[in-house]
Amino acid sequence: DAADLVARRDRTYAEVQEHYYEAPPRIERGWREHLVGTDGRVYLDMVNNVTPLGHGHPGLAAAVAQQLRTLNTNSRFNYGAVVEFAERLAGVAPDPLDTVFLVNSGSEATDLAIRVALAATGRRDVVSVLEAYHGWTYASDAVSTSTADNPNALASRPDWVHPVDAPNPFRGRHRGADAARYAPEAAERIRELAASGRPPAAFIAETFYGNAGGIPLPDDYLAEVYAAVREAGGLAIADEVQAGYGRLGNWFWGFEQQGVVPDVIAVAKAAGNGYPLGAVITTREIAARFRTQGYFFSSTGGSPASSVAGLTVLDAFRDEGLQRNAAETGAHLKGRLEALAERHPLIGAVHGLGLYLGVEFVRDRATLEPATEETAAICDRLLELGVIMQPTGDHQNVLKVKPPLVVARESADFFVAMLDRVLSEGW
Ligand code: PMP
Repeated sequence: DAADLVARRDRTYAEVQEHYYEAPPRIERGWREHLVGTDGRVYLDMVNNVTPLGHGHPGLAAAVAQQLRTLNTNSRFNYGAVVEFAERLAGVAPDPLDTVFLVNSGSEATDLAIRVALAATGRRDVVSVLEAYHGWTYASDAVSTSTADNPNALASRPDWVHPVDAPNPFRGRHRGADAARYAPEAAERIRELAASGRPPAAFIAETFYGNAGGIPLPDDYLAEVYAAVREAGGLAIADEVQAGYGRLGNWFWGFEQQGVVPDVIAVAKAAGNGYPLGAVITTREIAARFRTQGYFFSSTGGSPASSVAGLTVLDAFRDEGLQRNAAETGAHLKGRLEALAERHPLIGAVHGLGLYLGVEFVRDRATLEPATEETAAICDRLLELGVIMQPTGDHQNVLKVKPPLVVARESADFFVAMLDRVLSEGW
């Protein structure tokens, strides 16, 4: 019945809708890092960055169900849980970011972050890095430059978006660049724009190069670019939709790892553990300059049920050792993958931090020719062996390793064993 479900889906969904796998299993339920198909098989979910607490978290289910039974309505009402969530979220953000807008998703959060920056500066230009994905709404899509997600991404770019080179020390123009000598094109571009009379409203980037393959930004990269955009009177927007919420292990926010504080933060995904919840966090002063046609309002953004989900997630981060596991199991997993690279030349590099790792496959370690077809075949074979995994990056040659933050060490080891097996088979 898995195939029947795919056929029904394909008749009804728009063709553009993205799916995992040509022939996916039909997933019925999940617990922690595991998913169970209607075929009775258990799959290890190594790609899911939407559920840091894992699937089927009993505390989250109970809290949201209780809230749905009690009251779930729009955020115009004065309701305790909503205010409490906003306070708690502001509480985990660094000073002076103390003001929160609640929305439903990552795309809404990055879109709103951009619009807040445009309003706060009275400007229209935005600098964004290449190979980025920030969302599908108008403004978030405009600054999304990844050609893997959209082959026309660069050709169809609106004129207010200024894409700049990807800070990738592994591949491309900056290959092998010493971080200390790294000259971010973004900072130069910002200065050029300012000099040409079009100073940008904002620089937007992930604080970890997630979409490009889980590549940490070079040291001081954000410090240099944030300084340049602020000097030009613009704002620094951090897209923390993937990198935030402890994904990198030792840092709750990705920007902490870079030693900077942005002006505007966009969060979603992990914030509700799969229950729709996103937010923009900024300063009171910046927020005060944002106006929509009327007042800002989202019917379901920050609803009582979403807020209770958000509170449960923050409680779990406080009480359940998620970040510690991301750091420890992440380091263990990275070490195991690096050991695998010594035996399998197809692995060109193991990127990443915490539980956000990228295993990059190349046909040749000298030329770095991307092993795109091999990566797709490896993912299909891993599925047969019970591991859910997907390619990422502009060349679709990187395994995006980002399991729920509760992932057990045994599960991480199982993934490595299955990957070893696939690579030994010759996929
Ligand atoms: N920003 C980043 C970095 C993302 O990875 C995503 C989702 N992949 C988004 C924004 C958009 O989030 P959503 O899918 O919740 O709209």
